[in-house]
Amino acid sequence: MTDAIVIGSGPNGLAAALTLARAGAQVTVLEARDEIGGGTRTTQPFGEGILVDHCAAFHPMALQSPALAGLDRYGLQWAWPEIDAAHPLDDAAPALLHRSVDATASGLGADARRWRLLFGGPSRAYDRLAGDILGPVVHLPRHPLLLGRFGTPTLLPAALLARLFRTEQARALFLGTTAHAMRPLTEIVSSAIGMGILTAGHHDGWPVVVGGTQALTDAMAKALVDLGGKIETGVPVTSAVELPPARAVLLNLSPSAALGLYADRLPAGTRRAYRRYRYGPAAYKVDFAVEQGVPWRDAEVGRAGTVHLGGGPAEIIANEKAVAAGRMPERPFVLLGQQYLADPSRSRGDVHPVYSYAHVPAGYDGDATEAVVDQVERFAPGFRERIVDLRVTRPGEFAAGNANYVGGDILTGAKSPGALLLGPRPGRSPYRTGVRGVYLCSAAAPPGPGAHGMAGYRAARLAIKDLGLG
Ligand SMILES: Cc1cc2nc3c(=O)[nH]c(=O)nc-3n(C[C@H](O)[C@H](O)[C@H](O)COP(=O)(O)OP(=O)(O)OC[C@H]3O[C@@H](n4cnc5c(N)ncnc54)[C@H](O)[C@@H]3O)c2cc1C
Repeated sequence: MTDAIVIGSGPNGLAAALTLARAGAQVTVLEARDEIGGGTRTTQPFGEGILVDHCAAFHPMALQSPALAGLDRYGLQWAWPEIDAAHPLDDAAPALLHRSVDATASGLGADARRWRLLFGGPSRAYDRLAGDILGPVVHLPRHPLLLGRFGTPTLLPAALLARLFRTEQARALFLGTTAHAMRPLTEIVSSAIGMGILTAGHHDGWPVVVGGTQALTDAMAKALVDLGGKIETGVPVTSAVELPPARAVLLNLSPSAALGLYADRLPAGTRRAYRRYRYGPAAYKVDFAVEQGVPWRDAEVGRAGTVHLGGGPAEIIANEKAVAAGRMPERPFVLLGQQYLADPSRSRGDVHPVYSYAHVPAGYDGDATEAVVDQVERFAPGFRERIVDLRVTRPGEFAAGNANYVGGDILTGAKSPGALLLGPRPGRSPYRTGVRGVYLCSAAAPPGPGAHGMAGYRAARLAIKDLGLG
């Protein structure tokens, strides 16, 4: 009998499988698609040689992940842009985020001291803090004082915490990063995900994977196979009954999909929690092939891996609120990626892949392509003329390509205060489903979205303990 079956080969599925295999378990991964990787894949929609990350692109949280440790032996290589992130503004110099807290602070004028105060201590201690941050919020902390120092501000609404700063740059940089969570920034705990990203980034930077995020998937798969693990593709699992016998089943799935597979066997409490589980806004992605790159008005923005195109603080707050309420803003928040700056192997000659996605309402079925191009033009006049080709991925296409992205929600669930604090199901462990030997190991479980594999790692550690393997 196989010891464990993992359904889904996203980063959490592969991390779970690898963690189990490292503990000596016989593992099989079943993946619905013909290719593995879920949100950690890279494609070539513009022809040979131009590499485009399908989903995950930047990895500030990945370097401290035990699930990804040792993968350099399997070809995983990180590369860093000169500037981690930039936030251009209409009438002021752009805000620039560097790995160094001091370098960032020195560009923030009157806010230099406040930026250091908020991020200096926690980022210096991040290698110790990561174990506490990259898991369930409610737990017995290993470093209670450090966690308290980091965690207390995260409870605040991002819009309120941003008022700590005086300059438009610092406020925009902070709010642009907290907007990654796609929540109303006036809500409590809406600072949490952005604070985590900024703290981790000030320790490890915002690296990309050399050769595209796919290389992360490939490295995990190779390491798994080396340990005797098996991966089967083109196997959409539609019922728990069809699964081969196994002592543990790990679901790299959304709670809704888990409900579909195990409906009658789940205890009433889990059924209720999974049924009530809510999904958030969607992504509308536009990938561009751009001759000579983006002609940014401010040259420094052309040295940044990530660019937040969201305007000033009031605009970011209003647009995230609108999107969460189901209204499409005229100028949506756009996250743009210039991964090729850190990893030139992704370009073909002078034609570069420029990745972008806009925050749009859940299930949005309109055309936002012009709105995205306009947001880039706003800060880079002449961009339109440099576009050689483009590809659009709409919310419906995200959902059709990956059952976890319900309505185009790329975060596998709304990051509401309840979901952040308690996970998909209140109880002893957010990874347990209530069915013996069945665990939830997707981005719906803590610590939530990202390509760090930590939900998979933690669910697998639990299974290993239950199986008596470690
Ligand atoms: C546009 C976009 C940008 C992003 N940017 C970043 C970023 O820069 N950095 C970052 O860290 N994260 C980013 N993310 C988020 C990150 O990609 C996800 O949080 C992460 O992929 C979630 O991993 P997962 O393993 O939980 O699930 P997924 O990656 O969603 O994988 C789930 C897998 O399960 C398979 N599956 C589903 N149902 C079944 C079934 N019934 N049977 C068999 N297989 C099934 C799916 O096909 C898929 O392969 C981004 C996501 C998107 C889409």
